[in-house]
Amino acid sequence: MAECIFCRIVAGEIPSEIVYRDDEVVAFRDINPQGPVHVLVIPVEHIPGIREADPSKNALLGKLMTVAAKLAEEEGIADSGYRLVINQGPDAGQAVFHIHLHLIGGRKLSWPPG
Ligand code: AMP
Repeated sequence: MAECIFCRIVAGEIPSEIVYRDDEVVAFRDINPQGPVHVLVIPVEHIPGIREADPSKNALLGKLMTVAAKLAEEEGIADSGYRLVINQGPDAGQAVFHIHLHLIGGRKLSWPPG
């Protein structure tokens, strides 16, 4: 989708600090980090939200998690811990309508989230 900011990052049309890329998944640093480590892990395929993901996407969605776990190791936060978050819809404050998994860590994270 030409107007999707994350599709444009995948296409290299908008600069970002990409930390992982393969044919299916791209990860890049969040422009407004909520912790010392804040990476967004996204599918290359444009899927607006988890609501639009049918079971044919199970493997792809699972891959977002395993890529995030690998990146957590590389970022040095696997032992201290981290949070993986998908914001879905207005009450969760979803701002970008291309599924993304937030990997946030490097500080103590409070619970429940705000
Ligand atoms: P969400 O509220 O879950 O939709 O989160 C969207 C995230 O995308 C926010 O954390 C933003 O800071 C981040 N974001 C928006 N534009 C960019 C960009 N150009 N590069 C990196 N991260 C971005």
